[in-house]
Amino acid sequence: MPELPEVETVARGLRQAILGRRILSVRFGKTDFIDDPAALEQHLPGRQIEAVERYGKFILLRLSAVSRETRVAANGDAAQASLLVHLGMTGQIAPSPAGRALEKHTHVCILLDDGRELRYTDARRFGRIAYLTKALLAEELTGFGTDPLEVSEMEFANRICGRRARIKALLLDQSVLRGIGNIYADESLWKAKIHPARLGAKLSRKQAETLRRVLRHILQKAIVLRGSSISDFLDAKGEPGEYQRHHRAYGREGKSCYRCKTRIRRAMVAGRSSYFCPTCQHSPRGFAALPLLGKNGRKNKRTEGSTGSGKRRAQRNRREEMGNHL
Ligand SMILES: [Zn+2]
Repeated sequence: MPELPEVETVARGLRQAILGRRILSVRFGKTDFIDDPAALEQHLPGRQIEAVERYGKFILLRLSAVSRETRVAANGDAAQASLLVHLGMTGQIAPSPAGRALEKHTHVCILLDDGRELRYTDARRFGRIAYLTKALLAEELTGFGTDPLEVSEMEFANRICGRRARIKALLLDQSVLRGIGNIYADESLWKAKIHPARLGAKLSRKQAETLRRVLRHILQKAIVLRGSSISDFLDAKGEPGEYQRHHRAYGREGKSCYRCKTRIRRAMVAGRSSYFCPTCQHSPRGFAALPLLGKNGRKNKRTEGSTGSGKRRAQRNRREEMGNHL
């Protein structure tokens, strides 16, 4: 599922493509992932897209107040508002010429004043779209942790080192830091040589600072490469990201560690598949990795391509993501 670098990539693409456009109308396919479809129909038309921002894994389209010339708000709610978009696992949002045939699973089309439509497609519909007034948005955004690209050394250490939870769980917890998911948690822990099952409270301040530094570096590099395309992530131009080529731990079970050649192992931590090097990342006492698939490496080989078992692995990963799609 899209994490911070992927969502940032989409937000940047949208900023280039649709900033300043005015919304004319909205139409829907399926609406079960939209908070209040009628609110979108009622309140979006006439508003201008004033900013496109990322907040954790959310995309926020900041919408202008309704101007008198274009439309008088039916219920008096004409103040600035926001459209919140969460891509869930398979959501994609991109502008398209209004006359172009709809892709399969297109569920929202927002007609813009330049003849294009902002289209949202989502095969699984684990995403979410919501029209939010200023007050509702503030309510929605309470309880989130700091953005990992902005968190200070002291704040990071305070949020991690005092906690009796596993570091992997803390990284995934959106109230600790916002925007990190399974991929970038595993990648940063590998880089920092910290086992995912270690308790936050057991990390030294120095280890915490290393983790903060590498996490930030990895996220920034992934943004430059437009994120990771594991299954079906595409940016706002419909292009896949490239950071998956730089993964060192995530999805590499049975393959050699880039540092020490030990085979990467997988374990369930915080209810999620977690990939790590058993040599570089010392496990807490008594913590066991899952057995490697196949002694002859056959199964491991099969997981490399887009073969059956690779697909099954992707499905397994997606199922796990479902439990964590905020
Ligand atoms: Zn290693």
